[in-house]
Amino acid sequence: MKLLVVGAGFAGAVIARELAQHEMGSVVVIDRRDHVAGNAFDPVHARTGARYHKYGPHIFHTNSRAVFDYLSQFTQWLPYHHVVNAVLPGGTASPMPINRDTLNIHFGLNLADESEMRDFLQGIREPIAQPTNAEEHLFSIYGRELTDLFFGRYTFKMWGLKLAEMPISVVARLPVRYGNEAQYFDDEFQGMPREGYLPLIEKMLAHERIEVRLGTAFDKAMEDQYSHVFNSMPIDEYFENRFGPLPYRSIKFEHRFDESFDYDVPTVNFTDSGEYTRKTSWALYPGCGGSPGDHVTYEIPCSYEDNNFERYYPIKTIDGWPQRRYKQYEDLARTKGNMTFIGRCGQYIYYDMHQVVANSLSIAKKFIESSGS
Ligand code: UDP
Repeated sequence: MKLLVVGAGFAGAVIARELAQHEMGSVVVIDRRDHVAGNAFDPVHARTGARYHKYGPHIFHTNSRAVFDYLSQFTQWLPYHHVVNAVLPGGTASPMPINRDTLNIHFGLNLADESEMRDFLQGIREPIAQPTNAEEHLFSIYGRELTDLFFGRYTFKMWGLKLAEMPISVVARLPVRYGNEAQYFDDEFQGMPREGYLPLIEKMLAHERIEVRLGTAFDKAMEDQYSHVFNSMPIDEYFENRFGPLPYRSIKFEHRFDESFDYDVPTVNFTDSGEYTRKTSWALYPGCGGSPGDHVTYEIPCSYEDNNFERYYPIKTIDGWPQRRYKQYEDLARTKGNMTFIGRCGQYIYYDMHQVVANSLSIAKKFIESSGS
């Protein structure tokens, strides 16, 4: 078989590698960008000589031993537990996700243990038995003041939507803490690829049956030349917006060099209503190199039309219109026997890296089994 994979990010690389390894045929991987690794691309910056993540911080975490072991074939890991601070409008920095220190700093309290924290939250939370949106969910845990302060403005600038318009799943990504744990994720396996994401993906794609063609956009004429296409391009774009465009959020990155970075965590979140959501000092990630102020990147969320049609985050809303529109595309895609949509934009899912790997492994497995291998 001649197989085409559109997109050389995690989704495409996993599928290409699996198809090649199981001797399904020759695999061509195309990417319209001039590099592999998709949005996990982490080159060495020409000015600083240190590594940075071109499309925003990517921190690997998973509870799946299978996913961790799979990727470990292609990389060693630097141990790393992600830590973030939220900076409030007055400039105070405190742990995010909210933990006991956050409340002690913010309210000038001295909550000593988990039960005191639970009691305090019990006094400020709203008794909403069955929250239906992100706002009600947070009100039911933290009450109004903390929700507005730590989530309301941040979410609005991040998504262009109010918390009440967003599904619970968007904020439920963050763990709820009653203790003092500062780490952002609770997963069993956490770390950064020792040499970076780029070498990891390059290693996956380095196979005698895989050919990578960069700077090559998908063209419908290619379909006739391949038995099957695994396509990570935006599904609405592929179908020429037949049911209307799907909403996505994008991010512009503003790089600053030689500025001071006064935090001991690599990423801080701005909870005010200014334009920035986060800033990251790359040197504070293991394996990036350099000194904290050398290279600091600010993130400015925006609509994808304002950012060269770079679609980063599928937007789902409480009223469900994007989900219904995606379903129309998904149903249409099912009628195409020779194409499988993959990845964040192909499947319109707010995937993390480990979820993309798990999903792509299962897509490849299904294809390989259905081909009788
Ligand atoms: N969020 C927030 N304040 C924060 C951090 C997160 O309001 O300080 C909300 C916001 O809506 C964000 C979501 O929680 O989009 C998920 O956060 P996460 O850090 O997982 O976002 P990602 O890293 O995927 O951009």
